[in-house]
Amino acid sequence: MTKTQGKVSVVAPMFNEGQVLALFAEKVHEALLSVSVDYELIFVDDGSRDDTSERIRELAAVDPRIVGICFSRNFGKEAAIVAGLRHATGSAVVVMDGDGQHPPAILPEMIALWRQGGVEVVAAIKQGRVSDPWHVRLRASLFNRMMLAATGLDLEGGSDFQLLDRTAVDAVLALGERGRFFRGMAQWVGFKRQTIHFNVAERLAGTGRWSIRQLVRLALTAIISFTARPLTWIMGIGALGVAIALLLGGQALFSWFTGKAVSGWTSLTILILFFGSANLFAVGVVGEYLGQVYQEVKQRPLYLVREVIMGGKR
Ligand code: UDP
Ligand code: MG
Repeated sequence: MTKTQGKVSVVAPMFNEGQVLALFAEKVHEALLSVSVDYELIFVDDGSRDDTSERIRELAAVDPRIVGICFSRNFGKEAAIVAGLRHATGSAVVVMDGDGQHPPAILPEMIALWRQGGVEVVAAIKQGRVSDPWHVRLRASLFNRMMLAATGLDLEGGSDFQLLDRTAVDAVLALGERGRFFRGMAQWVGFKRQTIHFNVAERLAGTGRWSIRQLVRLALTAIISFTARPLTWIMGIGALGVAIALLLGGQALFSWFTGKAVSGWTSLTILILFFGSANLFAVGVVGEYLGQVYQEVKQRPLYLVREVIMGGKR
């Protein structure tokens, strides 16, 4: 990809955002025109089942700044971000949700911080999601705490809404793993970071479509692709188990020798239940790592592209 000095690429993953697209594009244009910058908009249609790709084609037909990448099926937001980063030609790339929840209005501020020089990553931090129900906030906070404990990455308030300088983009793209987690990777590569705050807006239209299953998957991928520390934790729990077993075993032997070994049904049941399930859990964790290694070894592409729409070409 050729690099145009000063150009900004905006990458937005889109899954069934046909209703939102035109309005979103308009708001992004509006924000970027106010700072007079050369830019391109890369919309990645992640195998939408609605008219997202038709809408992209309509916009691109009359606007050479728009690029559409249409996947052959739904590969997930993380894959869509990678595709956008790979196609981006700007000397900075902004990744943002395509549903309007990441307000385009703060783009000028992000670009200004980058233009001042000295920072390679401008990360937009969520200022509390008042509109979210308590269980959504609890879920996010549990996930962030788990990530902090397991990987040392502090993702509190973090979002995928980030501006990356070309150096940081290339560093993220050079990470070879298939288990992608953009938010974590953009922090892991380091460089000078600056943060700005934003309030999560309501969606412009439609509803969020993350199922619990997808969220659990993303959390597992995030942790497992970043650290092997849970394996160490399991070993620690195992060691604790052995210590307890030695103590209780000693007591059991003592009871037997002194002829008092009768009762103990309750403690036995509890022990069997606990260690039985702890074993299964531990095997499950090891299995997750094995599964991840299996995915990496298979070397399958992260996504398949059905069509690339280049703006200005009818
Ligand atoms: N998205 C995607 N592929 C998916 C799910 C979501 O590209 O499989 C996009 C979606 O179109 C949106 C962004 O990722 O632009 C965030 O998704 P959503 O709004 O559903 O999630 P939330 O706002 O709850 O994080
Ligand atoms: Mg959203």
